[in-house]
Amino acid sequence: MSINMVGPCIIKFGTAEPKAYYLPRILSGEDYWCQGYSEPEAGSDLASLSMKCVRDGTDFILNGSKIWTTHAHFANRMFCLVRTRFEGKPQTGISFLLFEMDMPGISVEPILSASGEHEVNQVFFENVRIPQTALLGDENKGWTVAKHLLELERGSGSSVGLEVKLDYLKCLCKSFVDIDPALGQRISKAEIELEAIKFTELRVLSDISVGASPGPAAPLLKIQRTEITQKLDELAMNIAGQLTAPKQPEALSPSWNAPAIGPPDMLVIFPSYLNNRAATIYGGSNEIQRNIMAKTVLGL
Ligand SMILES: Cc1cc2nc3c(=O)[nH]c(=O)nc-3n(C[C@H](O)[C@H](O)[C@H](O)COP(=O)(O)OP(=O)(O)OC[C@H]3O[C@@H](n4cnc5c(N)ncnc54)[C@H](O)[C@@H]3O)c2cc1C
Repeated sequence: MSINMVGPCIIKFGTAEPKAYYLPRILSGEDYWCQGYSEPEAGSDLASLSMKCVRDGTDFILNGSKIWTTHAHFANRMFCLVRTRFEGKPQTGISFLLFEMDMPGISVEPILSASGEHEVNQVFFENVRIPQTALLGDENKGWTVAKHLLELERGSGSSVGLEVKLDYLKCLCKSFVDIDPALGQRISKAEIELEAIKFTELRVLSDISVGASPGPAAPLLKIQRTEITQKLDELAMNIAGQLTAPKQPEALSPSWNAPAIGPPDMLVIFPSYLNNRAATIYGGSNEIQRNIMAKTVLGL
């Protein structure tokens, strides 16, 4: 969220001051950002967001709530979309803010996922006072910044983690003598798909390096990467079968010193499968990405 998402937006839309302050802190890892976009009543229809931001002297006062905020309990900063104007087209009343998470009036409540992990949160804002210098870009023009960030969220990044997952699958196969040949074919198919994704990523990186944006490749990559993530998880479940069944999150803790039930390297298969069910939802659901492609690529 720092290097791939908010950093490039600060470079593109920020004045000299935020650039000088935030960029070195992003590079050093001193700042850990979270993304305050979704709200309880605004997800796919993000432009309908309603978190209120009003001027008070040289400050803004924030009231409302953000939801599904990944790692808000670790982050020391949030980039956040707020409503600064309630009249007119929804997109024309949104502003993009950068602020610290320890401001009085901000509280973070955990949401546990199906795998039992704490990754996402609901964040509440009650009369939170932040300086107007928190604005990135112009007031009421935050939608432009927001869209640019989403394009980077969906289009940049890399599938290196997926290659690691694929290697793990191949190692996993070696632990079993009677693997169904059809599974081997599915792994090979996934490997070919992953190779194609890598070439698209390289094309996008080459475009970004000369100042262009990912464009229509962003929704395409978002769909392909997340669908293959789920395919690889399903394959791991198919290969390891009942060995993935014992639920033992405590065995993943560094302080756990008892033997795990079953082979320890299979402890993560089921939690990973459950966790990645969300991949086709977060970053904008895949249905919405298909809508974007239908509109921007096919002109439908
Ligand atoms: C694990 C996880 C982490 C997340 N992290 C963050 C984060 O850090 N910051 C943040 O701001 N948000 C985050 N999100 C929120 C995420 O961006 C939203 O969940 C997502 O955009 C969908 O919004 P929604 O949940 O409100 O679903 P809804 O918008 O209510 O959609 C419900 C269903 O309807 C479908 N749908 C809706 N509209 C259409 C349409 N026009 N055409 C076709 N289908 C449609 C959707 O595809 C979906 O299947 C996270 C979500 C998850 C699950």
